Amino acid sequence: MAHTSFDTKVVHQKLDQKEVHNSKSTPIYQSSAFTFEDLDHLESYYEGDSPYLYSREKNPNTEELGKTIANLEGAEAGVSTSSGMSAILAGILAAAKPGDHIVAAEDLYGGSHKLITKELVNFGIDVSIVSFRDFDQVKHSIKENTKLLYTESISNPFLRVEDLEKLVEIAEEFNVKTMVDNTFATPYLLQPCTKGVDLVVHSATKYIGGHSDVTSGVLVGTKDLIDSAKQKIITLGANLSPFEAWLTQRGAKTLGLRMKQQSHNAESLAAALNYNKLVKTVYYPEFVSDRGNGAIVTIELEETIDIPTFFKSLGWIKIAPTLAGVETTVSYPVRTSHRALSQEELEKIGINDSIIRLSVGIEDESDIIDQFKQAIHKAIK
Ligand code: PLP
Repeated sequence: MAHTSFDTKVVHQKLDQKEVHNSKSTPIYQSSAFTFEDLDHLESYYEGDSPYLYSREKNPNTEELGKTIANLEGAEAGVSTSSGMSAILAGILAAAKPGDHIVAAEDLYGGSHKLITKELVNFGIDVSIVSFRDFDQVKHSIKENTKLLYTESISNPFLRVEDLEKLVEIAEEFNVKTMVDNTFATPYLLQPCTKGVDLVVHSATKYIGGHSDVTSGVLVGTKDLIDSAKQKIITLGANLSPFEAWLTQRGAKTLGLRMKQQSHNAESLAAALNYNKLVKTVYYPEFVSDRGNGAIVTIELEETIDIPTFFKSLGWIKIAPTLAGVETTVSYPVRTSHRALSQEELEKIGINDSIIRLSVGIEDESDIIDQFKQAIHKAIK
């Protein structure tokens, strides 16, 4: 089937029709293993003629999700994992081994920062954390044993949009691989693999799942790197369960619709907050793609605003240590996503007590704007 546009492709991603008995929605294969009639049948699995053996290795639902996102990202291959974090780990371990070095951006999601700075050392991988705002710094930190450049397409929480062309250019010059966390942008807005990025990772817990009811991850990229990552996922037991894969796949069908509405609402909210004198700074990307600029808005409130009162006054907008659901939510990076960072690290990135991250949902745009306006007003000291 030659589905070329995103909106058509996204609802038609599915395993082979024969394999799923022409069911309209792929059934949930809630089975830890698959059985065999005789030893020849068992042998056929190892010869590639039977697709499934043991669900930690491969299952129709987990396979369907990996393939779907690979297709939407324009990547050669994909694999689903138990969470965004395990997808990041599998991707890094596919590109770097003990004795190797990676260079990562300083303005990453707090959990990724912690994984890279605190855990990779246990795998014998050396790390440099630098500002990707300055590509000379990136170039200067590349060593003989550097294997990977790691960054986010839209950074968290200040929404810096990565220059992917430049990143790929440097990687090619120094013969290193690139890996990009595309969680905030989603394949609806950006497809880094089509620009030459080797590995793209998603916390599918966020926009791909979209309904805050599943924790999952997806890694897509070149076939050789994904094959290697698959082996790590199997050995580390970082596989996704069939039901979680099914829920994520179901959520993904409306990714385009949701991103369209959420990006539109975020654009309107950012514009309204820009006019609000009680908001010191609004962080919202100027340009991500022709389809929109994403659904996260980060704000710094003026010192005259009492932060606890602001959070208390938000009514139906709840505090949530996550983002991307259909409901508008707010999060407080110093207390949630970036809690693991030291004061010095927070200051370096620019996160302070007045920084608030807004995840804009699909509600009516004027209701969202009014709700923030009244909360800010109520919180004047
Ligand atoms: N990457 C980004 C940008 C995130 O925001 C998160 C979680 O908040 C992750 C990765 C980790 O994903 P998960 O919570 O699904 O493990």
